Amino acid sequence: MTGEFQIIRDYFQRPVESDELRVGIGDDGAVLRPREGYDQVVVTDTLVEGRHFPAGFAAEDIGWRALAVNLSDIAAMGAVPRFAFLNLTLPIAEHEWLSAFARGFFALAEPSGVTLAGGDTTQGPLSLTVTVFGDVDENKAVLRNGAKPGDRICVSGSLGDAAAGLEILLRGASSENVLVSRFRKPEPRLALGRNLAGTASAAIDISDGLMADLGHILEASGVGARVELSSLPISSALADYSERAPDYALAGGDDYELCFCLSAKKLAELRAMDNACDITCIGEVTSERDLVILDNNGNHYQPSRRSWEHFMEWSK
Ligand code: ADP
Ligand code: MG
Repeated sequence: MTGEFQIIRDYFQRPVESDELRVGIGDDGAVLRPREGYDQVVVTDTLVEGRHFPAGFAAEDIGWRALAVNLSDIAAMGAVPRFAFLNLTLPIAEHEWLSAFARGFFALAEPSGVTLAGGDTTQGPLSLTVTVFGDVDENKAVLRNGAKPGDRICVSGSLGDAAAGLEILLRGASSENVLVSRFRKPEPRLALGRNLAGTASAAIDISDGLMADLGHILEASGVGARVELSSLPISSALADYSERAPDYALAGGDDYELCFCLSAKKLAELRAMDNACDITCIGEVTSERDLVILDNNGNHYQPSRRSWEHFMEWSK
């Protein structure tokens, strides 16, 4: 096996110029200098082979995904990502795997303004932990607990595509497909996320499915919600894939879209900003502490449980 230090030098150490990163990769620890007037937001997430992604998943996609799931949390906090730390556990050090992994990681890090500032490299079953430090204006981080009755509930992009994509992947289909690529390469909603600071009353990223994640906002805020089934943003690819597209949108995981609450006035302000993705209003926050989904006839709707829940059941 190539030595740990060689791996770090060959694949992860890149020249950095930054006043905020006083010391980067190469010492016992990184030295960061927080910017005046900002709070720091720190997020971390682990991906384990066979649990968070199928065994044999492409190295480039693993690199992208390990960072993407963290940037999605940073976006949900209303923050701007700055520095990342990468803890890599690998069964063997293969040049092809490592270079593809690094290519995927930096393909997302660079346009996102993220500098890799440190990490750890060890041998063992494939697992990756990424930690990201981000900045947000002092006291402006968007939490889960600020939703108020009367707020609009909105989501970014389209929902349910990634759950369908994973299902297709697990069936062994190899052909490229828009649903599969939504699972392989989630796009963290960073531009929208930074606009939520000072605009949204509450936000979360959708990793476990809309109902589960909106449920976290409702619980933390002590409120309920009414969601219109017909308003869910469903892509034409998902609609073509399944008659039960709304169930994928409600309960499928791995979307990495944002779900947030805000007043009608703030929603108008947000729509006027440059958000780089579609925003769809799907319902309203209520004072009854219950999540109600209404179908076209105004009846309560309950999605059926789906098979994708078996893979990665308690994974997140
Ligand atoms: P120590 O033995 O003192 O813990 P390491 O040998 O683990 O230090 O790491 C040496 C340097 O390389 C540190 O700056 C560490 O942050 C960095 N590093 C180690 N692994 C990675 C990695 N996978 N990605 C980025 N930086 C890494
Ligand atoms: Mg170490």
